[in-house]
Amino acid sequence: MTYIFFIYGLAFFSMGLAILLLPKKGSVFAVVHELWAIGAFGIVHGINEWLDMFIIIHSPEKVAFLEIARMITLPLSFLFLIQFSTTSIRKMENVYPFMKALPLALLLVWGIMTLASANHFVKGDIWARYILAGPGIFLTVYAFYLQSAWCKEKALPEIAREFSLAACSFALYGFFAAVIVPPDNFFPASFVNSALFLDSVHLPVQLFRTACAVIVAFSMMRVLRLFDYTMQENIKQMAYHDPLTGLPNRIMLDDCLSSAMLRARAGRGKLAVMMIDVDKFKEVNDRFGHATGDCLLQAVGKRLTKMLRKSDMIARMGGDEFMVLLAEVRTDDDADVVALKIISAFQEQILCEGHEFRSTVSVGIALCPDDGNTSVALVRAADVAMYRAKKRGRNTFQRYHGEPQQA
Ligand code: GH3
Ligand code: MG
Repeated sequence: MTYIFFIYGLAFFSMGLAILLLPKKGSVFAVVHELWAIGAFGIVHGINEWLDMFIIIHSPEKVAFLEIARMITLPLSFLFLIQFSTTSIRKMENVYPFMKALPLALLLVWGIMTLASANHFVKGDIWARYILAGPGIFLTVYAFYLQSAWCKEKALPEIAREFSLAACSFALYGFFAAVIVPPDNFFPASFVNSALFLDSVHLPVQLFRTACAVIVAFSMMRVLRLFDYTMQENIKQMAYHDPLTGLPNRIMLDDCLSSAMLRARAGRGKLAVMMIDVDKFKEVNDRFGHATGDCLLQAVGKRLTKMLRKSDMIARMGGDEFMVLLAEVRTDDDADVVALKIISAFQEQILCEGHEFRSTVSVGIALCPDDGNTSVALVRAADVAMYRAKKRGRNTFQRYHGEPQQA
């Protein structure tokens, strides 16, 4: 049974280590900046439980220095919870300025109550639970609840779920850690205490605290893992997508085009790329401003996405240039049909910031393997064809003619 303290300590200690060691540089996740205090709580409270274990192993001859060390670790760990919850609640709710003074005020009250009591060790433990653990744990539950709501709002449902689980297990932990104290001769310690709990439930309260600690640690580590994963996904999204239109960018197109070319070559199939450039786009910028120009580019991206099939890829290459990749082309004329569809889709006006635009596009088509056998060569061929379409008066398409482009 003594070793349950070891597991109890290990759960919180490893959670603390994970929180403190996880790199958080450049993080945009609101809670991470305050989470260090939960990490510190985990480490200190983990050590506290191991001290408990050694004290029980060495009893009845008490080890005074372990008791003194415990007088520091127990209140200090709960103080970290108060620090975490008060700073994150203040930040999330933007109210309660008195919360800034709460950790110090509660520490003072605890110090005075402990010093004024006859048996410092027992009373110090009880007051730490009533004065520090209670507010610390229950405010932490509230802070986790706020974080969960924030994550839900930011479309991070998995992290929100883990925060809710952490909040529930912390609330249960709060009941066992802050309400059930060592027995003493004053109410409520005389009534709701660990001895009574053992008599009526026949199981030590530490067993329940340990179970809660394991669940808390598990959900906090899941929060960290999921957060790490989400950040990596966001970085990937930023590296491979154009921020204005949300479409894949040149890098992603290059990746997809290279693998589509390998597949086409293996299956002896064909693929087509189309360079699409908005005609006289500079005039829009000059007459209506850059913001309206941006709006028009977004609308062009949306129109292309709407009219093409899901299997076709659309990327923004930069400026007013878009690229379409048709991964499976049966005959050479297939690409012409799609190009005509694109051009006619722009006959319909586009509404942007209160202005109506009748933009047209010029399209250049290049086929693989005929016009180039690397992604760079194929894009260059499509570009050459697109400039021919511009020369032919715009609002039209041209296929690449001539020698295949070289990479
Ligand atoms: P053309 O018919 O020959 O294509 O003429 P154009 O006026 O469309 O000229 P071009 O395609 O060469 O110019 C594209 C312009 O797009 C140049 C630049 O000022 C503008 N531009 C590039 N990136 C952005 C952007 O992100 N937002 C906005 N609003 N404008 C951009
Ligand atoms: Mg243009």
